[in-house]
Amino acid sequence: RQASTWADVPQGPPVSRKLSRQTGFKEKINLGVGAYRDDQGKPYVLPSVRSAENKVIEQKLNKEYAGITGVPDFTKAAAVLAYGEGSSALDRVVITQSISGTGALRIGGAFLQRFFPGAKKIYIPTPSWANHAAVFKDSGLEVEKYRYYNKDTIGLDFEGMVADIKGAPKGSAFLLHACAHNPTGVDPTPEQWREISDAVKAGGHYAFFDMAYQGFASGNTDTDAYALRYFVEQGHNPCLAQSFAKNMGLYGERVGAFSVVCADAAEKKRVDSQIKILVRPLYSNPPVHGARIASEILNDPALNKQWLGEVKGMADRIITMRALLKKELENLGSKHDWSHITSQIGMFAYTGLTPEQMDKLAKEHSVYATKDGRISVAGITSGNVKRLAAAIHAVKP
Ligand code: PMP
Repeated sequence: RQASTWADVPQGPPVSRKLSRQTGFKEKINLGVGAYRDDQGKPYVLPSVRSAENKVIEQKLNKEYAGITGVPDFTKAAAVLAYGEGSSALDRVVITQSISGTGALRIGGAFLQRFFPGAKKIYIPTPSWANHAAVFKDSGLEVEKYRYYNKDTIGLDFEGMVADIKGAPKGSAFLLHACAHNPTGVDPTPEQWREISDAVKAGGHYAFFDMAYQGFASGNTDTDAYALRYFVEQGHNPCLAQSFAKNMGLYGERVGAFSVVCADAAEKKRVDSQIKILVRPLYSNPPVHGARIASEILNDPALNKQWLGEVKGMADRIITMRALLKKELENLGSKHDWSHITSQIGMFAYTGLTPEQMDKLAKEHSVYATKDGRISVAGITSGNVKRLAAAIHAVKP
């Protein structure tokens, strides 16, 4: 027998967030999943996606490679969805299809690592989506944190955030969640975004937006793009990671885009050439099927209208479940202030429950979520919300 080549590879820790151990006995409530569920708790394929997919199949298209930057009809429409019809960014933005939002962040990380004029470093919020730090570190960037969440108010640490932006070395890169901050569900208000824009500008900083939930937060794709569009109006030239996992329910199809707003056409030409040079050795070119589905939805006016209605339907169900959970807790006589459940936005809610209370939820009530107190509101249904409220009330009387 040959000596093993990998004998020194250490056992790594589990990759995903730590769920409380599933040792319970009651009918379980799973609030750990990062995907939308319908009111029966089942995965949901949007009817507009079914129709778009049928249209794609009926066309009997060939399976040739896409270009390096993907399906042009898709990326063009994705840019309009994000930056808005008539945006000044549209004729100077470089865009490439990506392996969903994660792939977009990874291309962005690599581009910054190679060309960002400042320190090869990016500031991310505390806390942030767990994969942000990993993606940027693997891209060769150093990761620093800025203040974001205030655990005492279960809300935004706005002063801390602005102070950290202002205090960072001139010309730093900042990752901003465009809407529906994951994991906290806490977003700045439009007025706060305007101050954040000023702070980023004052520091000569660079804004990198991650928009994984456009439409999913408020139910309106324009409302959710407010921060990004405001920054562009204010003369920032940000870059952007887009995901269609949540708002089209295309999780496993891996549909996304990475874009860079350039100063002018000449800069656009140069940046575009470098994005292609960067993507080619990573995966040559992206998969076409999911992008074709998204393209049908974005470019066919009737399907687009239907899709916008369905996105709103998902957002509304989540907003309704937040309200119901809060109401049930109040009905049980809870004296705690649960207003954060309804003021937070998007798929996740930070309950403010401690790791011990989350453990108890799992062990004694078969309610499973991450130990940081984050619950996926998408896992709440009209059938389980009463039992969930009772369980929360029992662990935090
Ligand atoms: N950014 C954030 C903040 C997210 O929450 C997610 C999904 N959990 C992503 C990016 C990317 O997800 P995907 O690669 O599935 O598009």
